[in-house]
Amino acid sequence: MLPLDPQADIGRRAWVACPNCDDRRGCAVCEQKGTCTEHWRYLLSNTGSLLHLQCPSCTHVWTHETHFGATRSQ
Ligand SMILES: [Zn+2]
Ligand SMILES: [Zn+2]
Repeated sequence: MLPLDPQADIGRRAWVACPNCDDRRGCAVCEQKGTCTEHWRYLLSNTGSLLHLQCPSCTHVWTHETHFGATRSQ
């Protein structure tokens, strides 16, 4: 297991499914896309629409493309 990233801050969280452990499978709150108190990820940083996330359950680190804000209107 990786250590938690020093940038991991409980004040910055994101509700994205972890591609490694999929711990929110079967969770009623997550299935309704709610802000579950158990299944959230540390938001380490973001670059535009790309989020850099770490899962507190398995410490997996990955980037997630949200596609939000990726295009700028003129
Ligand atoms: Zn995980
Ligand atoms: Zn959940």
